[in-house]
Amino acid sequence: MRPHRAYVPAIEDEFWIEGREARHLVRVLRARPGDRLTLFDGRGTEARARVVAVEGERVRVRVEERRSARREPPAPVTLYLALLKGEKLFDAVRMGTELGVSRFVLLETRHAVAKAIRPQKLERLRRVAIEAAKQSGRTELPGVEGPLALEAVPPVEQGLVADPRAGARVFEVLDPARPVALAVGPEGGFAEEELRTLVERGFTPVTLGPRILRAETAACALVALATAAFGQ
Ligand code: SAM
Repeated sequence: MRPHRAYVPAIEDEFWIEGREARHLVRVLRARPGDRLTLFDGRGTEARARVVAVEGERVRVRVEERRSARREPPAPVTLYLALLKGEKLFDAVRMGTELGVSRFVLLETRHAVAKAIRPQKLERLRRVAIEAAKQSGRTELPGVEGPLALEAVPPVEQGLVADPRAGARVFEVLDPARPVALAVGPEGGFAEEELRTLVERGFTPVTLGPRILRAETAACALVALATAAFGQ
């Protein structure tokens, strides 16, 4: 069986894993001395490690081999995603993490149903990103930031905004040699002025096809098309 993949913010030669990750190892996986683990620090280092002690809800591990690993898109992919109501952001962050998003930035937009996000929900979104990164073999952990007013989006080197009225398709406009920022609107779509602001900041409107997608579906489609254009 493949060793369990555990996220730790820093990998030392021998150390205690504590908190949520250790509780999962102890309660769910019933970790025992001698068990093998793969550790990753979310910043490009992975390690083969062995459990050497379990005390209460903490787990001591010894690193046997450490290596640099990279299973990331060739250039960073930032996803500016409008706040969405209910559980939709969880789906978008989970699938976006699996697909290679480097950074999620949540946006306050005019036609959104959800106008704000509670700090607890933001924290849950970050945990969803960690779980998705563990399961998909990501070597870098995407940040989940915001919420940011749409007007505060900075100028980008290369950007694509999903807009059902656009004519251009992702593969026609994306330069795979440069980092890309992507933007997806809320349930009610971006307001005209918001689209204008994004275009001024360097975003090109792109279509995702003739059907109207739910925002979380659109986010996944846009990320998948961008990473496909990156050759992944
Ligand atoms: N009536 C809204 C509109 O016209 O924008 C529909 C909003 S849609 C439910 C939510 C978001 O998903 C949109 O703001 C857009 O970013 C993206 N989206 C959905 N379908 C799309 C498509 N076919 N092409 C481009 N973007 C799309």
